[in-house]
Amino acid sequence: MNIKSENLLNEIEKRKDDLIDLTQKLIRIPTLNPPGNNYLEICEFLKQRMEKSRFETKLIRAYDTPGDSNKYPRWNLVCFKDGINKGNTIHFNGHTDVVETGNYWSVDPFEGKYIDGLIYGRGACDMKGGIAASIIAVECFVAVSPNYSGRIELSFTADEETGGYGGVAFLANEGYFSPDRISSVIIPEPLNKDRICLGHRGVWWAEIETFGKIAHGSMPFLGDSAIRHMGAVLKEFEEKLYPKLKTIKTNMPVVPEGAKSSTMNINSIHGGEAEQEKGFSGYPAPVVADNCKIVIDRRFLIEEEIQKVKKDIDDILKNLENKRENFSYKITDLHEVIPTMTDKNSRLVSELTSSIKEILGVNPDYVISPGTYDQKHIERIGKLKNCVAYGPGILDLAHQPDEYISVNDMLDSAKVMALSLEKMLI
Ligand SMILES: [Zn+2]
Repeated sequence: MNIKSENLLNEIEKRKDDLIDLTQKLIRIPTLNPPGNNYLEICEFLKQRMEKSRFETKLIRAYDTPGDSNKYPRWNLVCFKDGINKGNTIHFNGHTDVVETGNYWSVDPFEGKYIDGLIYGRGACDMKGGIAASIIAVECFVAVSPNYSGRIELSFTADEETGGYGGVAFLANEGYFSPDRISSVIIPEPLNKDRICLGHRGVWWAEIETFGKIAHGSMPFLGDSAIRHMGAVLKEFEEKLYPKLKTIKTNMPVVPEGAKSSTMNINSIHGGEAEQEKGFSGYPAPVVADNCKIVIDRRFLIEEEIQKVKKDIDDILKNLENKRENFSYKITDLHEVIPTMTDKNSRLVSELTSSIKEILGVNPDYVISPGTYDQKHIERIGKLKNCVAYGPGILDLAHQPDEYISVNDMLDSAKVMALSLEKMLI
């Protein structure tokens, strides 16, 4: 390792206390989403920090995106710093929102308590620790190599936990992730410091509705139950669809193992009389259900075409329409994302790989996430291919009680990020 790289790594070690302090301060701003609390506060805090490090900053509100209101405005922050020559632009993106705390915490989820090398709190690993590590990486790189070529950007964005529409999707629509201005994006989500996440599986959400005819419950033969029709749909799914999904396997390195097959969850089912408010003590009415709905969450693989994924479901329903009396249905698309996988041979992945080898002495694992994250908007709206998730933290701890981040893991991944910057911007 050359002397400059050694200086860079030493500089990161020296800022350990600053890294702990920064992570704690981020955790102490409770950016719960929903509803989307304190986005302006966290952006103002990060703005001050980055301006002190001589970055230009821009506060951007995602007006009129889902959830945006004067009470809960969707604020985002973008920070820039140019080197002395033209070159690559490397962009770090982190989401500032965290999910609800839930029960069973043994510490205050917003205190950011430091115990034996670990910092505890909601968002510690997902992903305020990752944000802090990327900031330290960038600041140390600029301090040690002020004469770099190219440009460094960081964005801190809202709403990842609820789809990213008031965050990365909004910025992508505004052109912030266009390939003509950005070379590569690193999202420091908690994927473990020795793993590079290249992408994610695809998603199709849809509502399926069956129809019937209302009648008195004592004479169901005068009506037609939409719930029984839905029962027939579910039976077909159990007997035909689920066994088939299990056999569709991917070559994508998806983790965990079970997600290497195609999957489908049924998120909800509603039929007949609406549920009454909690505390209502009356009886239900005897009515035949004239309507039943389910919402499906189908996760598919890069080897599958979305049209085929949709057709398989439609074929099952069409088949029922032919063989089952009075069966009729409707499918409504709710949301879809195509699977994505960044090229393992891209510059970004190979520089991260060699940095991981230098810092940790191991070859990284390349993984694919079972669910999607903000990379989907960078690829689909921004049309930018070179994007990975790489950051400190244990994925399984995300959204759990007593979520924590290890300070050593943050330091190691900050070193990997800084060394990769050195390789790409010098
Ligand atoms: Zn996250």
